[in-house]
Amino acid sequence: MTDSYYPKSLSEALELRRETGAIPFAGGTDLMVRFRAQAGTLPKLPHPVLFLGHLEELRQISMDSSGTHIGASALLSDIGVSEHVHPMLSETVMLMASPPLRNLATLAGNIGNASPAGDAVCSLIALDASVVLASLSGERTLLLEEFITGPGKTVMKSDEFIREIVVPADQPDRYWYRKVGTRKANALSKLSLSAMATVHEHRVQDFRAAFGAVGPVVIRRRDLEAQVRGMTLDQLSRETEGIVDAYRPHIIPIDDQRSQAVYRLQASLNLLRRWIDLLMQGG
Ligand SMILES: Cc1cc2nc3c(=O)[nH]c(=O)nc-3n(C[C@H](O)[C@H](O)[C@H](O)COP(=O)(O)OP(=O)(O)OC[C@H]3O[C@@H](n4cnc5c(N)ncnc54)[C@H](O)[C@@H]3O)c2cc1C
Repeated sequence: MTDSYYPKSLSEALELRRETGAIPFAGGTDLMVRFRAQAGTLPKLPHPVLFLGHLEELRQISMDSSGTHIGASALLSDIGVSEHVHPMLSETVMLMASPPLRNLATLAGNIGNASPAGDAVCSLIALDASVVLASLSGERTLLLEEFITGPGKTVMKSDEFIREIVVPADQPDRYWYRKVGTRKANALSKLSLSAMATVHEHRVQDFRAAFGAVGPVVIRRRDLEAQVRGMTLDQLSRETEGIVDAYRPHIIPIDDQRSQAVYRLQASLNLLRRWIDLLMQGG
């Protein structure tokens, strides 16, 4: 038997988190699988759980001058159709899992799971998103890249949970999201690319590329992005292979049940080439 807590408000949830240390439970689509011994059996959760998925205060999606604020427990299905959400994130969440699961699963759950294959995490990192962590002592805001430190690892303290995710309003003009999986629905990514850019008067003003499932965390190299910024499209064309080669040592996938490292590396670099090609075509 697992102890569980069902708070009636955000403030009660924060009190319970501090008093009991119970772990956040939103849609349960990761937790119920992670702690299940085999298919068809009930999971044995080793910790008490704190239900957060039902709290209206955590399900709002809104926009202000700073950007879009997505409540930790907003459902993927609501995020996918919200007019406030950046289209790359909408497309990403609508390719996650399947419709029934998207009616349970949340963005904070994808982040809290801290998997390098978390699809929403990859696009959120490309979008420079932040997480707002709440506790009874107050709130702190961290870039998502700083929040997740390794597979299953975050810097969240035992009395905190994610209250919301903030996606800045100011974003590059172009984006491209590609997920490579075994099939369209209910397939975790073999690899993914969330790419963004602004090209103005034939010159690259912003360039971003975040790679999922090819390292211990989502790979985004701001140093390499800075080298691409400022290039003309002609330079970009000449330098394509140099850019791809610069990314190569940072894409460090593993073999697992979903794919092989050698395939993941090659396919990631092919996606990067394709993204650069799309920019040169004005796509
Ligand atoms: C069949 C199937 C298909 C799937 N397909 C995909 C896919 O295509 N892409 C993909 O990325 N994932 C996929 N997943 C994984 C999962 O559905 C997602 O990661 C989902 O976003 C998890 O959300 P949740 O609300 O269910 O998380 P939960 O299971 O409730 O929680 C997951 C983790 O997040 C933590 N957490 C939850 N809420 C908070 C909070 N507010 N603050 C801090 N920590 C919190 C929990 O403690 C736990 O560690 C799939 C899962 C299944 C079972």
